[in-house]
Amino acid sequence: MKALDTEFPEEDKFEKLTSRPKARRGPTAFLTVQEGCDKFCAFCVVPYTRGAEVSRPAERVLAEARDLVERGVRELTLLGQNVNAYHGHAQGLAGIIRDLAKIDGLERIRFTTSHPNDMDDALIAAHAEVEKLMPYLHLPVQAGSDRILKRMNRQHTAESYLRVVERLRAARPDLHLSGDFIVGFPEETEEDFQATLDLVEAVQYGSAFSFKYSERPGTPAAERPQVSEAEKDDRLQRLQAVLLRQQRALQDAMVGREVGVLFEKPGRRPGQMGGKSDYLHAVHVMGEGLSVGELRRVRILESGANSLMGELV
Ligand code: SF4
Repeated sequence: MKALDTEFPEEDKFEKLTSRPKARRGPTAFLTVQEGCDKFCAFCVVPYTRGAEVSRPAERVLAEARDLVERGVRELTLLGQNVNAYHGHAQGLAGIIRDLAKIDGLERIRFTTSHPNDMDDALIAAHAEVEKLMPYLHLPVQAGSDRILKRMNRQHTAESYLRVVERLRAARPDLHLSGDFIVGFPEETEEDFQATLDLVEAVQYGSAFSFKYSERPGTPAAERPQVSEAEKDDRLQRLQAVLLRQQRALQDAMVGREVGVLFEKPGRRPGQMGGKSDYLHAVHVMGEGLSVGELRRVRILESGANSLMGELV
């Protein structure tokens, strides 16, 4: 059963979040809108440790967002273990995003972490229509083999994930995707792993997090036949090489483009400022008189190891 935190004991979960002292904040903040998860992926402890999915009512989320913006926040990342299952607003996560976008002074909205099955039509449409919703999305898939996805109890297939990506990119063609991957899940064969590589090639990720499977006591996957450490190491290296190549290619493709950058802190060199692009790339510019919290257009001149260099437009 879905729960709202109005008059249930779960309300206590968010109590600490609303009693912050009224201090000036930096330009970016996380805002928890949802906790827990009902998905029960076979490798994950969240449903056991955090419990069932609980959403904060929209009015409380909006009140906290207004307060954060008054204190200097320009970019909000809505947080939840399964954030797009959010149901504290009649129109779900898309509804709260559209209401947040009406707050003057709030310039950017992001959300994390999403499950592909909860990427509904309204949320996909928001990516096309809400200018403040940034073109970067963390959408974990974990594996590309349907056999392994089934054993993971992910409740989606590689094909259904790819269809969600396709619809998102139709709505927002410049969307950069980020993913999570687990290699060496119990009973994963070389053929299964190859299906993960194929999916990665089909998507072309802007960034990704990849891990070797490790047993979490109490989860169903911990009871199954395990893949050897040597095989896990080998697969992780191969996957990370592909993901790194894609990340570099997308980062390098920013050179010559103009992007929005929200400046967050002075850079290492005198006169330099650092911030994040719409696509979450770290960007540095030389900018006399630039202040933290300014959102400016920047032309990207150079792509470095971990960041981009640009000039103010
Ligand atoms: S959807 Fe995410 S949080 Fe929920 S069980 Fe799966 S991995 Fe864990």
